[in-house]
Amino acid sequence: MSANVSILTIGDELILGDRIDTNGPWLSRAMLSCGIKTVERRCVSDGIENIVEALQAVVGKSDVCILTGGLGPTEDDRTRKALAKALGEPLVEDEKALASIENWFSNAGLNMPSPNSVQALRPVSATWIENKHGTAPGLIASIENCIVLCLPGPPSELMPMFESVKSQVTEQLDCAAPMHTVELHAWGIAESIAGEKIKDLMQVDDPSVSILMGSAGITARVTSSDEQKRNAVAKEIECRWSPWVFGFENETLSSSLGKLVDGSIAIAESCTAGLVGDLIASTPGSSAWLSGGWITYSDALKCSQLGVGKALLEEFGAVSSEVAKAMCEGAAKISGATIGLSTTGIAGPSGGTELKPVGTVFIGCTFNGETQVRAFRFTGNRNEIRMRAANTALQMVRLLLVGEESDRMCWQHGGTER
Ligand code: ATP
Repeated sequence: MSANVSILTIGDELILGDRIDTNGPWLSRAMLSCGIKTVERRCVSDGIENIVEALQAVVGKSDVCILTGGLGPTEDDRTRKALAKALGEPLVEDEKALASIENWFSNAGLNMPSPNSVQALRPVSATWIENKHGTAPGLIASIENCIVLCLPGPPSELMPMFESVKSQVTEQLDCAAPMHTVELHAWGIAESIAGEKIKDLMQVDDPSVSILMGSAGITARVTSSDEQKRNAVAKEIECRWSPWVFGFENETLSSSLGKLVDGSIAIAESCTAGLVGDLIASTPGSSAWLSGGWITYSDALKCSQLGVGKALLEEFGAVSSEVAKAMCEGAAKISGATIGLSTTGIAGPSGGTELKPVGTVFIGCTFNGETQVRAFRFTGNRNEIRMRAANTALQMVRLLLVGEESDRMCWQHGGTER
């Protein structure tokens, strides 16, 4: 039988719901890519007895047990003590671990505060693991036949430490073929339609295919130990979800757009009030193609900043196809950008009418002398509507740039006006 792992994420904040456990899922995926399947994952409170109990419950059935968190210098960081108790050993100070913590502080130009010295304690039979990104060293020990690995809680410390010790762990185990995942991301296709299009692929075990919904779109995860099979299925999904797939792995709508924009983009935002600009600016290097933008909530600013006609506002209202068109054209003209993008809508919860209910958003995009406006009826609460509108605006530009602007998008209400 190939090796398995149990994962214990330590912290009252995880149990009480103040923080979402991201370390557990990350570790499960990271171990699967080493050929080790997770058999159990638990959130455990900070109490020593609780940690010992959880550890004892999993060591008998796991080849590896990974604990995260509780390695800090404060009283409520009890993973070290719990490990010592489960091993039936005292804690001793490790000189090298202490020197590495002191070194971490001195590199930051600081003296080590005395409470941090407890982080150099380890159970007698345990080995410490250097933390190059923080003060909490990790620990590695064995209970019965189970390798116990204690890693720090902050993901920015846990991830590199895991990478640094994973081969030391896996070389002692009988691992299955490493499982890897390819992710592809889409925006503008409804979940039900996305699922329907790849129903047959989701019924196959290898590669396994799953769909995840998130605020940044729909993701298909394709998992297999066979790279060729994995990539072939990912390509097939890209084809079936065309033209909505904007990228693979860490790609975002904004970063995919950055590769396509030849020139620059200017944004005139009403209901999204800066979200479109924020999404773009989150992509490193976007200063090369983001010209700038306006947040024009009031009619007065729409007129004075973007040159939207007063008569247009009076005749059609601020939330209209005509005003979205005038806003994006004004933004492009005034900034001299090659692309103008605009949003105007009703994010709610009040302000909706029978004709234009909450969720109504008009998105305009002008490029190459042509302006396109689409009307949407987004669902969700105020911020979901704003976020959906912002992502949809980016996808609209992307579709225009790749010459795929004809399809009707998810939440679109009516046709596309040109
Ligand atoms: P440090 O000494 O650096 O605080 P630690 O090992 O004691 O390390 P914790 O105090 O348990 O870590 O957690 C520190 C922070 O790490 C938490 O406030 C939280 O931001 C993050 N963190 C801890 N556990 C998790 C988890 N399971 N998922 C996501 N984030 C976590």
